[in-house]
Amino acid sequence: MSRYWSAVVHGLTPYVPGEQPKLANLVKLNTNENPYGPSPKVIEAVRAEAADTLRLYPDPNSDRLRAGIAAYHGVTPEQVFVGNGSDEVLAHAFMALLKHERAILFPDITYSFYPVYCGLYEIGHRAVPLTESFEIRVDDYLTPNGGIIFPNPNAPTGRLLALGEIERLLAGNPDSVVVIDEAYIDFGGDSAVGLVARYPQLLVTRTLSKSHALAGLRVGYAIGQPHLVEALNRVKDSFNSYPLDRFAQAGALASIEDRAYFESICAKVVRTRTRLVEEMEALGFEVLPSGANFIFARHPAQDGAALAAALRDRSIIVRHFRNPARIAPFLRVTVGTDAQCDALVAALKALC
Ligand SMILES: *Cc1c(COP(=O)(O)O)cnc(C)c1O
Repeated sequence: MSRYWSAVVHGLTPYVPGEQPKLANLVKLNTNENPYGPSPKVIEAVRAEAADTLRLYPDPNSDRLRAGIAAYHGVTPEQVFVGNGSDEVLAHAFMALLKHERAILFPDITYSFYPVYCGLYEIGHRAVPLTESFEIRVDDYLTPNGGIIFPNPNAPTGRLLALGEIERLLAGNPDSVVVIDEAYIDFGGDSAVGLVARYPQLLVTRTLSKSHALAGLRVGYAIGQPHLVEALNRVKDSFNSYPLDRFAQAGALASIEDRAYFESICAKVVRTRTRLVEEMEALGFEVLPSGANFIFARHPAQDGAALAAALRDRSIIVRHFRNPARIAPFLRVTVGTDAQCDALVAALKALC
């Protein structure tokens, strides 16, 4: 606290990112990073940017990258907005498209950055409880609102909402923006991008941090009709005209274009996820069905916080959320390599 702070800063409750410990030899399963490296073509493209041209500003509109993303999704470049990680894209979406008279809606258990943006931009919100089995019930969102946002699959539960349900939500909610945060959709879900042409209020956000193994590059994007993208650009150009540096633009494009590589690492993660779920269930864990690169699991006889701490003593880091109380028994475990998951299962065998 300082008397030099603005009133806004005094009132903020910032997001707390998962820990990035500086220790070596950790089994790091806490922040949903990809255990495999990015495509070799990404490394090549990023290296090529380490050149004299760094004295020049990057393309403020990331035209080549947006064209590559558009081609990948079968949309036009005017339907693509890129940002410094999808967190930045989401921040702009809150400011540009979700700040209205009425409160916005999102699940009570969801990505904990959403309420932080609401605090920063002074956006009213109402948390809609998930069902007993941690599912999003679309009917609960068919009520007047200033906007709707949730991840699909949801985080930190991993539960996937069927595309038909998302379409039902859009059909029943024509008057406000619906943001579907597809940070984890590449691990087995059906994307809502195909609905963008028919629903002018739909914005789909994506990140290269998880499925493309590029959390360190900071690239995310949104797809929506041009009028929504224009709103995001108006905020972007009132904040930072160069959110993606030369490395990020070149590396992200190379990754999007190396489809075979990225699909192969996603398939590996999904295979390991199936194995991990089976092995944890064999240890007595209840594991929610996951469409993501993490699983959300609880053991009926173990305290979540204590279990996370005991794993930590064995150099295995998973994520535990104290709040809300309903999820305190759970651990969120990133799907790592087979060897990392073996280490986790061996430690849990000793503990449970
Ligand atoms: C990881 C994550 C993001 C942020 O991704 P970045 O592109 O790394 O900023 C957004 N939404 C959800 C639900 C996430 O889990």
